[in-house]
Amino acid sequence: MEEIGREVFDAFPDWVRIAFYSSAAVAILVFVLGVWFRGRNYLKARKAGRWNHLLSRVARAIANITLRRSRIRKDDPFAGLAHDFLLWGFLVLFLGTLILTVDEDFSKPLLGVSFLNGTTYLWYSLFLDVFGVLFVVGLGMMIYRRVRGTVPRLSFREQEVGQGLRVDRFIMDDWLFLALLLLAGIAGFAVEGVRILRDGTSFPQEWSPIGVALASTFAALGLSEEAAFTLHMGLWWLHAAGALALIAYIPFSKAFHVFAGFGSLVFSDDRAGRRLDAPTLTEPTGFRQVSDFTWAQLLQLDACVRCGRCHEVCPAQASGLPLSPRGLILQLRSFVGSHRANGGTAFVGSGIDAESVWSCATCLACMDACPLEIEHIPLLIEMRRYLVSRGEMDQGLETALTSLGRYGNSFRKPARERKGWTKRVPSTIKDATRAPVEYLWFVGDYASFDPRCQTVTARTAAVFLRLGLDFGILGEGERNAGNDVRRVGEEGLFEALRDGNVELLKDCTFRDIVTTDPHTYNTLKNEYPAPNGGRVLHYTELLDELLRSGRLRPSKKLPYRVTYHDPCYLGRYNGVYDAPRDVLKALGVELVEMARSGPNSFCCGAGGGRVWMTEADGGKKRPADLRVAEAAALNGVRTLVVACPKDYVMFTDAVKAAGLAERLEVRDIIELVEEAL
Ligand code: SF4
Ligand code: SF4
Repeated sequence: MEEIGREVFDAFPDWVRIAFYSSAAVAILVFVLGVWFRGRNYLKARKAGRWNHLLSRVARAIANITLRRSRIRKDDPFAGLAHDFLLWGFLVLFLGTLILTVDEDFSKPLLGVSFLNGTTYLWYSLFLDVFGVLFVVGLGMMIYRRVRGTVPRLSFREQEVGQGLRVDRFIMDDWLFLALLLLAGIAGFAVEGVRILRDGTSFPQEWSPIGVALASTFAALGLSEEAAFTLHMGLWWLHAAGALALIAYIPFSKAFHVFAGFGSLVFSDDRAGRRLDAPTLTEPTGFRQVSDFTWAQLLQLDACVRCGRCHEVCPAQASGLPLSPRGLILQLRSFVGSHRANGGTAFVGSGIDAESVWSCATCLACMDACPLEIEHIPLLIEMRRYLVSRGEMDQGLETALTSLGRYGNSFRKPARERKGWTKRVPSTIKDATRAPVEYLWFVGDYASFDPRCQTVTARTAAVFLRLGLDFGILGEGERNAGNDVRRVGEEGLFEALRDGNVELLKDCTFRDIVTTDPHTYNTLKNEYPAPNGGRVLHYTELLDELLRSGRLRPSKKLPYRVTYHDPCYLGRYNGVYDAPRDVLKALGVELVEMARSGPNSFCCGAGGGRVWMTEADGGKKRPADLRVAEAAALNGVRTLVVACPKDYVMFTDAVKAAGLAERLEVRDIIELVEEAL
């Protein structure tokens, strides 16, 4: 078996070897310069503090790749298969080239031995043949998808990415990348085919099935051995040129995501968006220019493959608002690479409109959809911080913030009115600031003040009382928890609200905190100091616990066919999907899921302070309008169940506005629980 193997340059004159190595040196030099050109900004960027637990970060990145790939396979099996073929094919071919290089250029000249022969070479040959086919088929599938244009998110329109970006360049880059890959792949097989036609194989044909099949095809097409001899060198150069051009092109193309994407996954923050960091930049607060980015953020910008998954799920985009999460990332990346970066130009107002920054409902759908875990929300919040520090904000938002600063709520109501809803409850509710309680109920602004929510809040209290829960409220001492205040970029006010609440909570004796508001729930759970060691519960989690312990026993089955809306801050932010569904199941209702449910739920549009902003006419329907239409379209469903006061308000309004009141009723889950009791 020792003679089995292959000489890379065997049949070629010496100048081929010299020309190849010279070309390879140029390609590698261009690659290194390109990487330097992109990477030099990282060296100048601010620290990110993400070098901790490096090994577990790498393990998590690998696990996330697996998880996300299986999600892609489930959502779009064709794309999943094409990606799998392409990825595995590419990795094996890349490894094969690396092994060949080590054998040819290091082991043979330096040690005088070749390890790529005998049985090793047979397996090497077979692996490269099989994975080479997968690679070419995967590429073909990708090209087919693009040519057919059946995936709208892959097509770009100028207005989706914002001013100044050349969409035609993105499209050209995509095609050039695919063309170079295809050239290298197909030419590689053709070289193998004509070589086998010319020389035959020194080993059984099944170890090189594709090469042998191609050689037979060429022979059947009338290609003589002499012609194969001449053709071999031409094809060999074509293959080499495709591969070397690809190497040189990587840092300037989408292909760079192979490196930046893995880096992005390794250095991502798995709590990003859920827990915001306090601003590290002051005067002005927030991000204004390129030098404000950390290296991890620059790496994430470079990782974007323009797949448009974030764009496709964005409720702002669906409502015709001028925000595309993909456009945002591409704008920022273009900024980093352009001369504007050096001039210290502010990006808001120069490619990125303030209006687009304010359009985000912080629903987390973009970050959840992004296969490379790019963190859009923290970037948007930093830009909002900058705008807020300059007083550049919507009138409605300004009014809400002023009210929050003065009264601790966004409703411009004096603190004593916070308990107003308790008048609707027949029994007295304990004051948790005066007496110890098992559950401290952090009621929140909307549940306390909005007239549409107050009835639901009173019903929640009635259910709690009926179940004999030992609970109490903070009363007039409670302030807005600050989740959305933080997300509009008003960090100072957030801290004041949080500190006031924390002071109050310190003097209370309780076991757990419970709230009906997912926004409040998120910030209490993720951004407040641990409340006396107790848990923070959403009321659906508490109801689920009470059901399991037998303390909540529905006395009848409800004969409704309902659908349930997952609030973003409960589901995507905190992974609470089962508790509300288990409660509904226990009530006996028939739950029909909307197409967008669970982690794919569609935002109502109220988050991130959008509820306070003057609604701009996006030209299309608002997210809440789209959502109620989705619920109303479900066969036989007449009830849209919600578990969030803001959802209750948004959807009640949307149902009225759409004239769907006869067709669809919005009900809080507690109303169903009360009915079943
Ligand atoms: S968080 Fe939601 S609204 Fe904001 S950019 Fe992402 S998908 Fe769009
Ligand atoms: S940010 Fe992520 S999801 Fe959006 S286009 Fe880029 S890679 Fe795709």
